[in-house]
Amino acid sequence: MKSHKQITVSQYRLDRRGFLAAACLTLIGRVSLASDERPDSTRWAMLADTHIPTVDNSANPPRNHHYFNPLGNAEKIMTAVAADPTAGMIIAGDLARLEGKIGDYENLAERIALLPEKYPVFMALGNHDHRENFRHVFKKTPGRLVSVEDRHVTIIDAPPIRFIVLDSLKKVNLTEGELSEVQTTWLKDFLADGDHIPTIIVLHHTLSPLGGGFTDVAQFYDVIRPARSVKAVLFGHSHVPGYAAFDDIHLINLPAAGYSFKENVPIGWMNATLTPTAGRFKLNTIGGPAPAEPTTELTWRQ
Ligand SMILES: [Zn+2]
Repeated sequence: MKSHKQITVSQYRLDRRGFLAAACLTLIGRVSLASDERPDSTRWAMLADTHIPTVDNSANPPRNHHYFNPLGNAEKIMTAVAADPTAGMIIAGDLARLEGKIGDYENLAERIALLPEKYPVFMALGNHDHRENFRHVFKKTPGRLVSVEDRHVTIIDAPPIRFIVLDSLKKVNLTEGELSEVQTTWLKDFLADGDHIPTIIVLHHTLSPLGGGFTDVAQFYDVIRPARSVKAVLFGHSHVPGYAAFDDIHLINLPAAGYSFKENVPIGWMNATLTPTAGRFKLNTIGGPAPAEPTTELTWRQ
């Protein structure tokens, strides 16, 4: 087991009824649970880049696409999570194959239906997604939807932590992403009057300022660096799972579910146990070589 700092993660699992009750309460506003009601940890399934197509073309994978079976891979993951349900699932964008077609999202919805009824699945939008088509198929999405112009932003209160799902889709099928000034300003204001709940930000694009990521990554860093409640950022896009850090904020690149660009890179999903002070991330490989050390433990900054 790879350990950045020695930590203990409680085995406590938030029971489903408790989670749903908390989720319902948050519909009418920000709720702070009494300390004796606050669970020690919450367990989540996390993945990215499902790239679900309208038509199954897995028999003819595109060149340099490995383990390419987006529909079958998604089915495998949903079935595994359904057998041992976490509090919820996060898919960090590039839900759809290339252009975010209605049929892509309908096929994704069909795979999601393999999960238990009312199981919450939170989705970020990526460069291969289409905001309107996504909303057309997923008319009701869980969590608190935030009104940010032209963006699909969600707050997930998942005691003892909180996720904020941002939207870095700039233009459909254009690799580069952008958060926009409106969204980063909203985030800055939200974090400023925050309640110190440990927060994990989710978005699709990589956080490299060197390209391939999103244009306003510097502004994003300026917002999250001083906001001590922000502990980590989850993202996809690269199709390469991995860990890095920006100052003392953890950057967690989630594995791709749909396919890999390299034969030696695994695809799959992450099973994450999160506490107010730490996170333990276990990579479940469904294609490609499984890492020798699938579990990584991270301690949050305080
Ligand atoms: Zn992408």
